[in-house]
Amino acid sequence: MKIVMMARNPDLYSHVRLKEAAEQRGHEFSIINTLRCYMNIASRRPEIYYNGEKLPEYDAVIPRIGASVTFYGLAVLRQFEMQGVFPLNESVAIGRSRDKLRSMQLLARDGIGLPVTTFAHDPKQTEEVVKIAGGAPLVVKLLEGTQGLGVVLADTDRSAKSVIEAFRATNTNILVQEFIKEAGGTDIRALVVGGKVIAAMQRKGAEGEFRSNLHRGGSAQQIKISPEERSTAIRSAKAMGLNVCGVDMLRANHGPVVMEVNSSPGLEGVEKATGIDVAGKIIEYLETNAKKGKTKTRGQ
Ligand code: ADP
Ligand code: GLU
Repeated sequence: MKIVMMARNPDLYSHVRLKEAAEQRGHEFSIINTLRCYMNIASRRPEIYYNGEKLPEYDAVIPRIGASVTFYGLAVLRQFEMQGVFPLNESVAIGRSRDKLRSMQLLARDGIGLPVTTFAHDPKQTEEVVKIAGGAPLVVKLLEGTQGLGVVLADTDRSAKSVIEAFRATNTNILVQEFIKEAGGTDIRALVVGGKVIAAMQRKGAEGEFRSNLHRGGSAQQIKISPEERSTAIRSAKAMGLNVCGVDMLRANHGPVVMEVNSSPGLEGVEKATGIDVAGKIIEYLETNAKKGKTKTRGQ
């Protein structure tokens, strides 16, 4: 197969591993810098140019679009889709996953367990928001946050109100969520590829830290997940329309609740914690599924 990966940094662990896995299996693999692509949107002849040349025809495209370049990255990916190139994840599905509220709405529609979550724009509603979320302790999150930054735990209604008001003053979107205390500063990341959980790890926050992000000093280890957790991860991937994703869950008393579905999951943490060749499984998925024009949405 001829595979192209959209990525800005070819040296990242995940990108190096995907290239390695593809080449080991005898595929032709190239990496293009998403932001350096330019396109010709002409009737019936979608083309993509790169470094002064028209890109050749590929069998599959692996989008690794960073959050900060979502808008342009999705446009380039749609252009590949218009050409009938099979995308590892479709542009529409990635678009859904980049919008936390939209994701939660889609997951909720399919009956997937979520932490009780409130969202409002009007600062006058602070008290109502705290009440609807069930009262303190509450987690307040910046909608655009990553790596656990912009996630705050408020122990009392009063501190929750202050945190909400402080965030609101900066004019960013936030959500207010029930604190799943029983998760004990751990969460579960399940890697779904082609409708199956192929690896799972538990992340644990540093001592005294409720956030389990590896970037916040957390550690990860392989974990055996329950059948309910497995089916929650698989249903989440399906609800989002993602072929490959990382589903982050918390173990609540009443079962697994999904926090986030990541459409470009990092491979380093999960491969090192579990010893599983995740990159290889991803390429294998392309081998069985990448057929020309098989895209479901074609950017619609
Ligand atoms: P980010 O997308 O920035 O990583 P998350 O929403 O994943 O932010 O939150 C970071 C971490 O904080 C999670 O991995 C989890 O350990 C913890 N956390 C987030 N939300 C809750 C919650 N509602 N209850 C308990 N812990 C939470
Ligand atoms: N057709 C897309 C979907 O099924 C919606 C496209 C969009 O939201 O922009 O989600």
